[in-house]
Amino acid sequence: MSKKIALFPGSFDPFTKGHEDIVLRGLHIFDEIIIAIGYNSQKSTRYFPIEMMLERIQQTFEKYPTIKVHTFAELTVSYAQKHEAQFLLRGLRNTTDFEYENSIAQINRQLYEKLESVFLITSPEFAWISSSIIREVHKYNGDVSGFLPYKL
Ligand code: ADP
Repeated sequence: MSKKIALFPGSFDPFTKGHEDIVLRGLHIFDEIIIAIGYNSQKSTRYFPIEMMLERIQQTFEKYPTIKVHTFAELTVSYAQKHEAQFLLRGLRNTTDFEYENSIAQINRQLYEKLESVFLITSPEFAWISSSIIREVHKYNGDVSGFLPYKL
């Protein structure tokens, strides 16, 4: 049987303990996970530089040979196809996430029907963590270290 490869795409601006939890739980399902930091065209300017986030996420998972970290700037389904990922991994926190993820998953299915989207429900202790709240706290010099799996 072929290796089960999942692509976990996101802006990861920044990558949080909520994201880390999804990846580690995903490892029970998939043989390999590619964390792909994308340039989201709707969020054109990043708060944390993409190269810095790449380095921090790599450092977070340095002991996990089956977790890869990439950056990408193209259609998610094309990137998945290029890297032979059969699954798209995403996290769900609430109904707002569901509405958004549902429409993205439907479009992705139209674009590449062999790619199966798989959703993991957030662990309760991370349900309230969002990258946008962390950016806001950080901007006003608040301590965000408790929400991140690495040191900034
Ligand atoms: P995007 O800009 O593509 O929405 P994000 O970096 O905001 O990317 O999130 C990537 C994925 O991680 C999304 O599926 C999002 O719902 C999920 N996610 C974000 N925060 C959490 C969390 N605290 N727990 C579980 N899933 C999360």
